[in-house]
Amino acid sequence: MLIVQKFGGSSVADVKRIKNVAGIIAETFLEGNDVMVVLSAQGDTTDDLLAKAAELNQNPSKRELDMLLTTGEQQSIALMAICLESMGLPVVSLTAWQIGLGTNAEYGSARIRRIDTERLRRELDKKRIVLVAGFQGVNKFGDYTTLGRGGSDTTAVALAAALHADRCQIFTDVEGVYTADPRKVPGALKLGEITYDEMMELASMGAQVLMNRSVQLAKRYGVELEVLSSLVRAPGTKVKEVVKRMEEMKITGIAKDENVARVTVLEVPDKPGSAFRILNAVSRAGINIDMIIQANGRGGANDISFVVAQSDAEAVEKALRGVQSAIGFAEVGLDKSIARISVVGAAMMSSVGIASLVFEALNDEHINIQMINTSEIKISIVIDAAYADRAVAAIHRKFFEN
Ligand code: ADP
Ligand code: ASP
Ligand code: MG
Repeated sequence: MLIVQKFGGSSVADVKRIKNVAGIIAETFLEGNDVMVVLSAQGDTTDDLLAKAAELNQNPSKRELDMLLTTGEQQSIALMAICLESMGLPVVSLTAWQIGLGTNAEYGSARIRRIDTERLRRELDKKRIVLVAGFQGVNKFGDYTTLGRGGSDTTAVALAAALHADRCQIFTDVEGVYTADPRKVPGALKLGEITYDEMMELASMGAQVLMNRSVQLAKRYGVELEVLSSLVRAPGTKVKEVVKRMEEMKITGIAKDENVARVTVLEVPDKPGSAFRILNAVSRAGINIDMIIQANGRGGANDISFVVAQSDAEAVEKALRGVQSAIGFAEVGLDKSIARISVVGAAMMSSVGIASLVFEALNDEHINIQMINTSEIKISIVIDAAYADRAVAAIHRKFFEN
């Protein structure tokens, strides 16, 4: 069997954790499997490197940032290889460049284009444990790129797909995917299984346990994922196309994202094309938006609001100022003190009343809802960030804790 195992930053944070993971890898290998391992940078290394860069330059080029960040994963694979060597095991560590993991040119959020499996196959044929640096790629200029935060998950899934691996295991610091972040909601329940679509929504809406693009890739290539703990031996969560589910589960999970901002464009002229020109200006700046609301307004003008990632807020403001006089709106405002709470579940489609239960939970806590958005398997609401944890806890109690 070919097994791909990915270990996140906390799983390899220090010498003790590295030895622990080496034990898991060794066991899998000694059972007779081909083993390919993807590692993240140790602990908070990526954040620490970003902080160091910021001390030197508030606006560094994305190329040099990627050059810096890829060193974190390279350290991890070399250290793990050194540890496995000490156990007498055959091992080789490889960077993205060495395995021909090509991406597009987008530094900081590159997309994988191809993986040259030849070197990987050769190493596996030599019966070596293969350690691959996660999160990184190489673009057409021969420069290192990174795949975006949490990108090692995507590296693991891409390798599993390219090599038609039999299993893809994502080891982390919790025992699987839960109905809410188990570190924030003590009553959160571990899910035995979850569909790709539900996981994709949870991941996109702030559940960082898996990177959303890794789930997208897994769905596209039919790679079944297992999320499990590197510290506790317990069955994890399977992420797959179809799941068997208990009838009574109205929703599957709740996610929270505080890294969002609301953009409000005031007094937009009420005529065809206004909304288009506003959203077009934002999209030309390469920024994704969510939850668009138009409030019908006073005297031939409307207010248009939408949600963006907090890190994009200033860029949106700049893009909109650039078209302000051409479109003729009065003002653009940013609010960063919001949180988006999302309730996800495939059963939502067939069960009425889920939205009203969500609203009831918030009403019980006297939490005011600022924006609402619904889709077939998701309800998102925007509230004041100060109440975010209370809101998640209240919704969780309503659905899971009685
Ligand atoms: P890694 O370093 O292994 O990639 P991450 O920190 O990226 O780990 O993701 C694991 C974390 O995701 C957990 O520690 C947990 O706090 C958080 N998390 C958020 N939502 C969920 C959820 N629904 N289920 C499990 N973990 C979640
Ligand atoms: N080290 C990178 C990050 O912190 C990639 C990863 O951990 O998946 O985002
Ligand atoms: Mg992660």
